[in-house]
Amino acid sequence: MKDNRLCDNCLGRQFALVGFGLTNKERGHILKDAIILELYNKIPDDKEAVSINQNIAKMGNVLAQQSMQRKECEIDLTSADDSVCELCEGLFDKLSIYVKPAVSKLENEDYQSFIIGAKIPPEILEKEDNIRAKYNITTGESMKSEFTREIGKLIMNQTNKKPDFELPDITIIIDLSNQTITLQKRSLFIYGRYNKFIRTIPQTRWPCYDCNGKGCIRCNYTGKRYMESVEELIAEPILEITGGSGSRFHGAGREDID
Ligand SMILES: [Zn+2]
Ligand SMILES: [Zn+2]
Repeated sequence: MKDNRLCDNCLGRQFALVGFGLTNKERGHILKDAIILELYNKIPDDKEAVSINQNIAKMGNVLAQQSMQRKECEIDLTSADDSVCELCEGLFDKLSIYVKPAVSKLENEDYQSFIIGAKIPPEILEKEDNIRAKYNITTGESMKSEFTREIGKLIMNQTNKKPDFELPDITIIIDLSNQTITLQKRSLFIYGRYNKFIRTIPQTRWPCYDCNGKGCIRCNYTGKRYMESVEELIAEPILEITGGSGSRFHGAGREDID
């Protein structure tokens, strides 16, 4: 805490595997409070103790601030940068900037379960690696799992939908590099049987041989060898009903023209 400025989440995350039952934020907070109590009798005489206390106070820890006040040490707030976590750069304090747009995107979707995916910029991951190497930390959790879990909790509370780690209906991908949120929707599988009573239409869409689907004189610019197919007859109304963007048709049993 003398050389590094970490928020409660980022400090706590380094000890995520110690014990159980606390969020990383709670862990970080408890650790900082414990340090402040330990340092209390050393300030203001011990300069190193004052500087650690100072760093923790600047990051917003109330106990550290009170401790400084009681000992009549001034909190130096000259540089605003000093109050921003050097690892996540305040990411965990502003989760709502990702939750709000994600929830509004989800409003138009028909789904029961979701999962969060995140792309964390490599330079942030590298900073965390460096800190772990420097202090030989082996009890940490990845920033990605903390981030996706915390976002997931907030989205669950606001939407009343459940996270599903196996087969989610929607994967919400948050890219921190370019601040984008995309929804990846799971495909809908429909199984059925049909009888085809005429020979003249193929099972699957049959592109024109001459133009390979682009459209030419031979196919009358339709791009198709046959105007209809079982695939198209089935897929088109289903795409319309579901609002889907594309379809794949797997037919079993072939005869006649295809
Ligand atoms: Zn942080
Ligand atoms: Zn053609």
